[in-house]
Amino acid sequence: MIVSKSPRKHVIVVALDGVPFSFFPALKEMNLSPVLSSLYQRNGIHPMTTTLPPVSSVAWASFLTGLNPGVHGITGFVDRRLDGYSPFVPTAEDLQVSTIYQHLSRIGLRVCSIGVPATFPPAPINGILVSGFLAPNLERSVYPKEEIETLKSFDYKLDIDAWSARRSDDSLIAQLPKTLSARINTASHYLNKENWDLFVFHILETDRLHHFMWRQMMDKESTALDLFSVLYGQIDRFLQTVMEKLSEETALIILSDHGFTELKKDFYLNRWLIERGYLSLSEQNATNLSGIAPGSKLFSMAPGRIYLHLEGKTPNGTILNDQNAESLRKEISESLENVHDPETGSKVIQKVVDMREEWDLTGFDNSPLQLPDLIAIPSPGYELKGELSGSDLFGNDRFSGMHSYGDAFVYLNGEEKDEKLDITDIQERICSFLGVQQMNEESNQT
Ligand SMILES: [Zn+2]
Repeated sequence: MIVSKSPRKHVIVVALDGVPFSFFPALKEMNLSPVLSSLYQRNGIHPMTTTLPPVSSVAWASFLTGLNPGVHGITGFVDRRLDGYSPFVPTAEDLQVSTIYQHLSRIGLRVCSIGVPATFPPAPINGILVSGFLAPNLERSVYPKEEIETLKSFDYKLDIDAWSARRSDDSLIAQLPKTLSARINTASHYLNKENWDLFVFHILETDRLHHFMWRQMMDKESTALDLFSVLYGQIDRFLQTVMEKLSEETALIILSDHGFTELKKDFYLNRWLIERGYLSLSEQNATNLSGIAPGSKLFSMAPGRIYLHLEGKTPNGTILNDQNAESLRKEISESLENVHDPETGSKVIQKVVDMREEWDLTGFDNSPLQLPDLIAIPSPGYELKGELSGSDLFGNDRFSGMHSYGDAFVYLNGEEKDEKLDITDIQERICSFLGVQQMNEESNQT
């Protein structure tokens, strides 16, 4: 084991889902969290880049593995395997590499993780793990199982009932602070229970709040301002108690996984592909990709992931991975970058990224899932959707906020920023605070 120069520390990570770096000036102006504002004022909060696409499960999987999504394998909320078209929700079992929790457990360190996305089903670790976002129910989300009773005694919930919150603001307002409060009480209990080597608490409620209330908050509507103030107040008090616990022996990391911006319109990328003749369906009302017709050239999965209908990578693919594919990549990128919103004239797609340039897959090119060939990055305000049925290219959503690309932040125990930081760098910093060997490629190949 290589021990770093600095003394070995314990590490506490507070993960604030969907809090943008660019939000810190407004956060201060609205006096939402004196703790976060004071860290910002002392130049402790740094901008951080994140995964493409900036989806929570994708980004937190990169936090856990220190690797890009092409390597760890989770590239969106839904995915498909090479042998079929039916979408499924990828879980921690689809991760192609091991996580920092497994790494630290192997070398005997104690880990507690509460609510982090991409940790379901909970793999055994040397400590306690409560899975996060997209876990189906509490009973199946806790390791070891003996902890379920404790979680229930705190009225712990994995998430709010988002469908009910979609139906009414009252439901959102009733649920969000209550869920967060139960989760903070639980996290505080576990934090005080043991001097963990690594303790991670993920707060999803910020992301939920931003999806539902971002525009209303920007427009200074009182309902939204009140809810922001309640929720950030809860987080601030939690951070306050964490700060009070800190000593020379403990390092604190606070980070988010992506930014947020106002959602103006949804754009249905598959419908656009159908309209342009790149994608056809064998059944008119197909709701998922199993209805794709053999002659199709391209298809998409949210948000903005574009796949060539390649022979060998898809059951009925006809595109050969040669010059045809190259010209198709070029053609589709150019056309997409030329899509404009007929109502406003604004560009819908900022840029189309060739994923061969974005992800270094050296030594990791055997994914059991088809990795996207291209990813379209929308202009701020346009959410790229994957739905097939329906005919409108644009639509409106119940949500008023959407993830922005990049614009995450990180606080690294008061360290000055000395380089560009990305979410994949954080596990390395954790290992270095802990004074343990980095996860390397050998130990990472499972
Ligand atoms: Zn979100």
